[in-house]
Amino acid sequence: MIDIIQNFSVVSHELDKVKKKPTIIAVSKTHSLEHIQPLLDYGHRVFGENKVQEAKQKWEKVLPVVKNLELHLIGKLQSNKAKDAVKIFHYIHSLDNPKLADELSKSENKLNLQRKYFVQVNVGDEQQKSGIATKEVLNFVNFCINEKKLNVLGLMCIPPFDLDPIPFFQTVSDLNKQLQLPLLSMGMSNDYIDAAKLGATHVRVGSKIFGARNYL
Ligand SMILES: *Cc1c(COP(=O)(O)O)cnc(C)c1O
Repeated sequence: MIDIIQNFSVVSHELDKVKKKPTIIAVSKTHSLEHIQPLLDYGHRVFGENKVQEAKQKWEKVLPVVKNLELHLIGKLQSNKAKDAVKIFHYIHSLDNPKLADELSKSENKLNLQRKYFVQVNVGDEQQKSGIATKEVLNFVNFCINEKKLNVLGLMCIPPFDLDPIPFFQTVSDLNKQLQLPLLSMGMSNDYIDAAKLGATHVRVGSKIFGARNYL
């Protein structure tokens, strides 16, 4: 049996030592509500999912009953699911192309909701990875804010998994400062301390809290 509260406490205490402690997004993708429940009961309210449909099934009934629940979409979002995403997620970390920005903007208007956004940066300029190319981030953020009226609050990145993440965190942290954005989403189970030291306001921690994921 893994002890989710114990795992969470370890992460939380480690982050207490960083100058500015980031918010811990407990990434609960692939895990059942039953598995997550101890952390909810413990009082944690910030969770991350990577699929709209899965999140809807898992959290739809919980949202109206648990006060201050905050759901973050951290996975790739297809434009045709923008509306469903806006319905359920308070924060979307995967804003990464103009068509999606347009659909999110339309969905917000239709639903009369305003959500919070991170623009995902393809900081390693990896061909297979989503995200805006580093050199295009400035333009894209301005487009989302000024033309699409989206509440973009920060950048998000996933550095190349086989390299030292520190230089990549530094690059995105510098860009974030340049843009004067208040939030910054970076760091996962293996590198959240480095990310926090380099200015992350949100770390996304999954397996270190909930254990290994069983993909179907
Ligand atoms: C799954 C996922 C995480 C959490 O990963 P762990 O290594 O399990 O902490 C963080 N960010 C994104 C974008 C993810 O897809």
